[in-house]
Amino acid sequence: ATAQIGVTGLAVMGRNLARNLARNGFSVAVHNRSPERTRTLVAEHGDEGTFVPSESLADFVGSLERPRAVIVMVKAGAPTDAVIDELIPLLEEGDIVVDCGNAHFADTRRREEALRAQGLHFVGTGVSGGEEGALRGPSIMPGGSAESYQKLGPIFEKIAAQVEGESCCRHVGPDGAGHFVKMVHNGIEYADMQLIAEAYDLLRAGLSASPAEIAEIFREWNGGELESFLIEITAEVLGHTDAATGRAFVDVVLDQAEQKGTGRWTVQSALDLGIPITGIAEATFARSLSGHADQREAARRVFADAGEKWQVDDRDTFVEDVRRALLASKIVAYAQGFDHIRAGSREYDWNIDLGGTATIWRGGCIIRARFLDRIKEAYDGEPDLSTLLVAPWFAERVSAGVPAWRRVVADAARAGVPTPAFASSLAYFDALRAERLPAALIQGLRDNFGAHTYHRVDRDGSFHTLWAGDRSEVEG
Ligand code: NDP
Repeated sequence: ATAQIGVTGLAVMGRNLARNLARNGFSVAVHNRSPERTRTLVAEHGDEGTFVPSESLADFVGSLERPRAVIVMVKAGAPTDAVIDELIPLLEEGDIVVDCGNAHFADTRRREEALRAQGLHFVGTGVSGGEEGALRGPSIMPGGSAESYQKLGPIFEKIAAQVEGESCCRHVGPDGAGHFVKMVHNGIEYADMQLIAEAYDLLRAGLSASPAEIAEIFREWNGGELESFLIEITAEVLGHTDAATGRAFVDVVLDQAEQKGTGRWTVQSALDLGIPITGIAEATFARSLSGHADQREAARRVFADAGEKWQVDDRDTFVEDVRRALLASKIVAYAQGFDHIRAGSREYDWNIDLGGTATIWRGGCIIRARFLDRIKEAYDGEPDLSTLLVAPWFAERVSAGVPAWRRVVADAARAGVPTPAFASSLAYFDALRAERLPAALIQGLRDNFGAHTYHRVDRDGSFHTLWAGDRSEVEG
């Protein structure tokens, strides 16, 4: 046995992860169900490091030093279960199975429990950064036992992206914690992209600007607080010209956004945990709305002229307003995402370090951004922070952005430009800071039709009003 770690599943992700491991000096056992992929990997990249190829799973397992660490990088869902089932009889106590695919955290919890019962470690690991990240340094979010991390930590921390000397990998928490955090990462990615798309749409409508001109605005924004991978590639995509037609690329792409389902998972989990991640939910619904072509066509025919004409008075002021509104909405999306992680951590006993999670996302992943440093600072400064919104750096940006945020959302509403994520983030902010919410009326209605009872502001206990009787109040 000579290999320090193994990878089975050598499609784009597994192949690049294996190359990354080899390039970093680790000897890597490699295996794939169909052996051509293994042969191609070794033929094309064998000189990048030490690969130990096997054509059978048994030989692959046999080529690993103990305790064995096997990374499974196959299609998520049933194929992952199939590979795990094949691996189990070949492994021995203390060996580690690492699932780096996009598994749902509930599946990871189930698999971890099953493997633990057999004396094996199961480490559901979120990996973000796509194929480039897998090769050059992804953001890595491992769950599983602390014991398994003793073996995996030094390897993963080395192959992950590095930012200012710090690795974008750290142990997130037990069983499904890693995949949970990866799921919320993807949810935040949905919100971030929707906010960027709305900002683009506003600039386009308000300024009658071309995509190339808007690309320039995003390029400028990338030099400031908004600096991030997504803002950077927005400039690249908006600046791109379609070779076939000579038109702006963004104008020849069908305006129906697709999804693989991690946004939906995030929203479903948040509903279960009772955490209002409104920005992520709006972003997820906005994608599905865009795909309802028949309804859009029907509504467009009937309501084509329902918006008002929009004339922006001062270009620079408007651009700055949109930037501030984008930053404030983005802060809301992250505040909600971190609330969600905290709730998951409490529900499943994961003890996740929120500031540490922000560190993992500073490099390698799709939402990598300068502003993640500030999230780390916020939780370091106050681990029990009730919401990121009130941490000093964020509170300052939000306060400074409020007038711009209101102008942008109000102007967009008048003009008929949809801003579901901007508008719902502002509504979330206003709801959180409200002195009184109309939730009191909801409670009254619930008590009226269903005797659901209510609490009072001035006395402890539950109460019910005899609505159909003399309207006196009784203890509920
Ligand atoms: P795919 O999801 O396309 O899966 C293909 C691989 O799975 C092949 O190696 C294939 O083997 C193997 N496979 C499928 N079914 C079985 C089975 N029943 N038994 C054994 N092997 C099987 O590969 P990707 O590289 O795109 O993604 C791998 C994982 O990484 C997925 O879970 C995916 O969701 C996730 N992913 C993550 C990304 C990220 O940024 N983190 C980006 C893309 C993917 P064969 O060659 O024999 O068909």
